[in-house]
Amino acid sequence: MARVFVVALVAVSLLGSACGDGGRRGEDARLSVVVSFYPLFEVAHAVGGERARVENLTPAGAEPHDLELEPDQVDDLEDADAVLYVGGGFQPAVEDVAERLEGAIDVLRGVELIEGDPHVWLDPVRFSAITGEVAEAFAKADPDGDDAYRANAADYIERLSELDGELRSGLQGCARRRFVTSHAAFGYLADRYGLTQEAIAGVSPESEPDPKRLAELADTVRADGTTTVFTETLVSPRVAETLAREAGVRTDVLNPIEGLTPEEQRAGENYFSVMRKNLAALRQALECA
Ligand code: ZN
Repeated sequence: MARVFVVALVAVSLLGSACGDGGRRGEDARLSVVVSFYPLFEVAHAVGGERARVENLTPAGAEPHDLELEPDQVDDLEDADAVLYVGGGFQPAVEDVAERLEGAIDVLRGVELIEGDPHVWLDPVRFSAITGEVAEAFAKADPDGDDAYRANAADYIERLSELDGELRSGLQGCARRRFVTSHAAFGYLADRYGLTQEAIAGVSPESEPDPKRLAELADTVRADGTTTVFTETLVSPRVAETLAREAGVRTDVLNPIEGLTPEEQRAGENYFSVMRKNLAALRQALECA
């Protein structure tokens, strides 16, 4: 009897995947996962594979810091089998709901933190640890999927390890170690590869600098021989462009992967492709051998 029931569930699940979204919980036997923004969507999708249906609360092209939730998104969070989010004040509205949910994982809990900085995903080594945690959380919510989740996580971690190797060797032998970014999203990347981040805004893109800070940064850029001020894809480049003009240097994009734009989605971009673009941009800006 139990076996017949399982077979029926699998059939429903396959039907669900074939139809795309697969419908609401109750019509769909897959593990329902809600994530708070893009990098967690990608890792949940990679680890969950066909066993999971993943919803991203941050719309494509939107900046995830301080995301506001719609009432039906709060319902989705409460109904999910597993919730993945970044705590530490990154998205307080999500945090408020997630904190009281049993299946919710604050991915900051399992990694070594830089105080006040939530951008852990930009370090592939810390992101690997998070991937392992996601597999554990999914296996807890869906014990039958344990082997699949572990195997999927191992594949993803392997890819992260390759990327880490590329970043490590690619960022050796550079003429400079300091880079200038829009908001302070790259602290973990800088920490991992021995670089120094100089950010125009704070850990949130909302915090705009005063003219004094901009003048100081322009001095630093000139004194350092910095070639580039980095802008982002989801935040206005206005202040970064002003600084670049002031200091007489170029701008280029360094993408904190807080979300993909609809264009990036259509082009099939993902964490790995964007990180490799970031590596190329850093190598050019820092004049690495
Ligand atoms: Zn950020």
